[in-house]
Amino acid sequence: MEILTGNQQLVKQINKNLVLDTIKKEAPISRAHISQKLGLNKGTVSSLVNELIEEQLTIESGTGKSSGGRKPVMLLFNEKAGYSIGIDLGVNYILGVLTDLQGNIVTEIRKNVHVRDYDSVLHILKLCIQDLISASPSSYYGIIGIGIGVPGLVNNEGEIFIAPNLGWKNTHLNSDMEESFHIPVIIENEANAGAYGEKLFGAGKNHIDILYVSAGIGIGVGIILKGELFTGMRGFAGEMGHMIIRADGKKCSCGSQGCWELYASEHALLEEAEQRLGTDKKNLSLEQLVELAEQGNEIVLQLFHDIGKYMAIGINNMINTFNPEQIIIGNRLALAKPWITDALSTFIRTNTLSQHQKDIKIDFSKLSSHSAAFGVSAMSIGSFLKGDYNKVKLQSGEGFSSPTDC
Ligand SMILES: [Zn+2]
Repeated sequence: MEILTGNQQLVKQINKNLVLDTIKKEAPISRAHISQKLGLNKGTVSSLVNELIEEQLTIESGTGKSSGGRKPVMLLFNEKAGYSIGIDLGVNYILGVLTDLQGNIVTEIRKNVHVRDYDSVLHILKLCIQDLISASPSSYYGIIGIGIGVPGLVNNEGEIFIAPNLGWKNTHLNSDMEESFHIPVIIENEANAGAYGEKLFGAGKNHIDILYVSAGIGIGVGIILKGELFTGMRGFAGEMGHMIIRADGKKCSCGSQGCWELYASEHALLEEAEQRLGTDKKNLSLEQLVELAEQGNEIVLQLFHDIGKYMAIGINNMINTFNPEQIIIGNRLALAKPWITDALSTFIRTNTLSQHQKDIKIDFSKLSSHSAAFGVSAMSIGSFLKGDYNKVKLQSGEGFSSPTDC
């Protein structure tokens, strides 16, 4: 058996990841073409491909066109070698998706959640995950990971520092989940997860400097710079919802005043609607307001116009700070696209520095409410394909403890 030093082992793993990534993106592709693309010699590519075939991550499929000699065997990525779970844990709902290793959806589950305390939500979450596991087709690796997007500050170790709209502080959701399922768990801020999802599968596919505005009950921003998620020193970057846009403005749960999300979120919309329509906000929903706007209700049209303007104020500040290629507006308020777009683009046109306006694209999420769930599922897949598959295979024999035991 070949014995490799630590460095050689690392180089080999890096090369293997590159080969797998190339197959994943460019399949069907031949060994010779991979070697050409990556500048690795044919023998190295061949031996790495053999390992990937043994590990069930790559399969051979027929022959391609010959460029002279023998027709080359074409390689495919085996996206059915395992499945990944992505959860968007909202303030009042849980959305879960089961995807294959290429991010194709197999099934999804959505539950409205009317409790917020950690133990009750954890119980419902585990039941949802168990349902997704049960729905997963049989495969070589089984479930390779669980990604969970949460509306709160998540540090680089995956601990939830604070989730104000859920009322959670210092929770170890990752270890609680790993103990139950014996599967690697990734916890990520939902706006970061959404940004990642849109970059890989949605509106951000062709851009590298993207700001994803997750406008739900609160507002969070996922920052993609040079194609990579930027999370800051401890993982807390992107808390733009608490950027102050009004000195001495409304009081915020963060302790500050005049924060952006108090004027431009779904919560802000419902509060304003309560005042202007004289209806208790408990009896109002974004969907109802959208319906009223469709019917031409003047009060509601003005309401959306004002929310669009406030959204633009925050977006203007971010554009002036980051000079991004693209802004993507996602999460719940993306539903109001037809009624906020005019106010938003007018404000940007008249206020944002003209140099920044050249070429900037302001788009709405393509994955709709699924950005975060797809994003965290893809994060789990990314971590698995970087080499964690050996670990997963080792653990997959252990089985899952039943969530109802908790
Ligand atoms: Zn605040």
